[in-house]
Amino acid sequence: MSEDQKIAVVTGANKGLGFETCRQLAKQGIKVILTSRSEEKGKAAAEKLQAEGLDVTYHQLDVSNPSSISLFAEFMQHEFGKLDILVNNAGVWLDTESSVLKANLETLQKTIETNLYGPFLVSQALIPLMKVHNYGRVVNVASGAGQLAEMQTGYPTYRMSKTALNALTKITGNELAGTNILVNSVCPGWVKTDMGGANATRTVEQGVDTIVWLATLPDGGPTSGFFRDRQPFAW
Ligand code: NAP
Repeated sequence: MSEDQKIAVVTGANKGLGFETCRQLAKQGIKVILTSRSEEKGKAAAEKLQAEGLDVTYHQLDVSNPSSISLFAEFMQHEFGKLDILVNNAGVWLDTESSVLKANLETLQKTIETNLYGPFLVSQALIPLMKVHNYGRVVNVASGAGQLAEMQTGYPTYRMSKTALNALTKITGNELAGTNILVNSVCPGWVKTDMGGANATRTVEQGVDTIVWLATLPDGGPTSGFFRDRQPFAW
């Protein structure tokens, strides 16, 4: 790879929005590290993109497992010594209970573990690889379901996890203000994936548009924001 080729890491990328984000970033000439918790599924996904002629490498990464995150950060440090783009995409929607008064603590813990602790630990492990060359674009894939401005009822554990993820975005972005590391959250809309279901209104291509836009923002672009359809979106 050439020295100025950008490197991107996408979590939860064996399918859905993560997979399509890898494809779109690689199509722009970016070297993409496609990661997934299941090595088998992730390798198959990476091979599919490699067969399209794209520069995609596979590595295992379970964002709910701190040792998997450490191993991955060591790999990135050793192999590349830097990182340009991080898309914290991996997420779960485990709610089967729609009432917050009946929701199960274990479901909340498992959801938070992946949707908040995951991006929190992955950011701690990988943002230092952006600081070394003062360039970084971090995209946290949140959801309108976590919007406090429009908070409704239903799937409470998922909603709370995404609100917390937005807090992580804002705190991290504020802490890095004045650097060339831009940190933003995105709501992809309701997208036809295994999570979004067949009735969703958007294709994966439409769903990743703002993710890819935020991942490739020019210097001086927005940071500490929440976006949908490339426009600021109320927290
Ligand atoms: P998806 O098709 O269900 O994909 C979710 C991905 O996350 C899968 O690859 C899954 O891996 C992975 N994942 C789950 N837990 C993980 C872990 N511990 N470590 C690593 N990867 C893990 O869902 P999607 O619609 O593409 O969702 C992607 C993101 O968009 C999520 O954060 C979701 O909350 C958000 N979002 C989606 C929608 C929508 O309408 N689809 C709307 C708003 C926000 P496995 O295949 O191994 O399960």
